Amino acid sequence: MATTLLRAEKVVTLDAQDTIYQPGYLVVEDDRIVELGPQSTPGNRRFDREVDLGPRLIMPGLVNAHTHSPMVLFRGHAEGHSLFTFEGWYNTIRVVEEVLDPDMLPPAVAVSCAEMIRTGTTCFADQYFWMDKIVPEVRKSGLRAALAYGVVEMGDEAARERELAAAAAFLESLAGDSRLIGWVGPHAFFVDNSEEAMALEVELADRFQTGLHIHLATDGSEDRYCQEKYGQTAIQQLKEMGILDHPILAAHCITVPEEDFPTLAEHPFTVVVASSSAMKNAAGAAPLKAMIEAGVNAALGTDNVTNNNSYDMFKEMQITGKLMSLRERTPNAVPTRHILEMATMGGARALGLEDEIGSLEAGKKADLISLDLTEIGWPPVGGQDVYTALVYAVSGMHVRDVMVDGRWLLRDGRWTTIDYAQARADLERVHAELEKRLAE
Ligand SMILES: [Zn+2]
Repeated sequence: MATTLLRAEKVVTLDAQDTIYQPGYLVVEDDRIVELGPQSTPGNRRFDREVDLGPRLIMPGLVNAHTHSPMVLFRGHAEGHSLFTFEGWYNTIRVVEEVLDPDMLPPAVAVSCAEMIRTGTTCFADQYFWMDKIVPEVRKSGLRAALAYGVVEMGDEAARERELAAAAAFLESLAGDSRLIGWVGPHAFFVDNSEEAMALEVELADRFQTGLHIHLATDGSEDRYCQEKYGQTAIQQLKEMGILDHPILAAHCITVPEEDFPTLAEHPFTVVVASSSAMKNAAGAAPLKAMIEAGVNAALGTDNVTNNNSYDMFKEMQITGKLMSLRERTPNAVPTRHILEMATMGGARALGLEDEIGSLEAGKKADLISLDLTEIGWPPVGGQDVYTALVYAVSGMHVRDVMVDGRWLLRDGRWTTIDYAQARADLERVHAELEKRLAE
């Protein structure tokens, strides 16, 4: 067992007691935090390694609870369109995906992982197809991830059989993996996944004891469909079908009717707010404040970077805080501590990892990041509290170190697991090939 002593000027644990140590220390043994506390010198014990991070702030790594990592390849391809409408998504993304080659995915995923690491994300929830091309890159990056096999079948029986078989094989392939969890990813219930597919997807999730990562209520399509066909809202219909009893990670939830919030709060359901994506797609602001007040678990995600166009979760926290204040016409409508909660524990809870990650506590995984306190944005520390600074004053470019499972993925601002220059060059090469195919 290898032990590492980490010291830093400030340790923000984001635990239930809001403990902050300044200066503070953590002891990491293999992949876990075994102790942490206020002293900069925890006795005269010897450790295998001692790392003094100096004027840096250590905090839990961020959880990006909704993205599609290969889609960095399409960054810039859908400007001026809304991917939140079926037509917008189909005409800008689906047509590109039709000429996409699976071998174009690895460089895109490597660049996405590099950008997430660089800006302080240690765990992400992904949804896409061709997972066999995604998994090796995520493994190499060292990030923790919940990877959902994306399914679009549009009522086509052959597509349904093919996609669900591929999803099952993918879930099988991750059995026993300590950092990667497999999820089932119906793109959108009722919209491009039929009721027949939904029943089979729930069965599959049960068989592998996992959850469903979906898009929900971006433009009201599900409610219109369910009102017409079943005479009730999509959430009430999902409840009747027994689907809400399964863990659901639902991106967006912009148009979910308020009457459904108590139902969502009673089930293992998480709304993932992706405000920058929703704003850029002119889709609207999710009723986040009311959902939180009703007791619905909330997480934060960037969505794909064709949409928004950045993986920086610090930016996402800032945009969400400001958007919610504007939506509610109330300053600090969602308090900064709760926005940080969404970006850490809210995501951890959604993925069933609340005992492992999401806060810095003894016994949890050593998934943490450090930010440079000598950079701009922090002062005056007597005026601006640290949660406000983290949400509104700094960005992911303040991140200097990233650790997952006790292993450095970023050290002093440099990637240790990804050759970013190579990944970027590879991405440019496959993007040029994609452009060529689109022109043909
Ligand atoms: Zn999405």
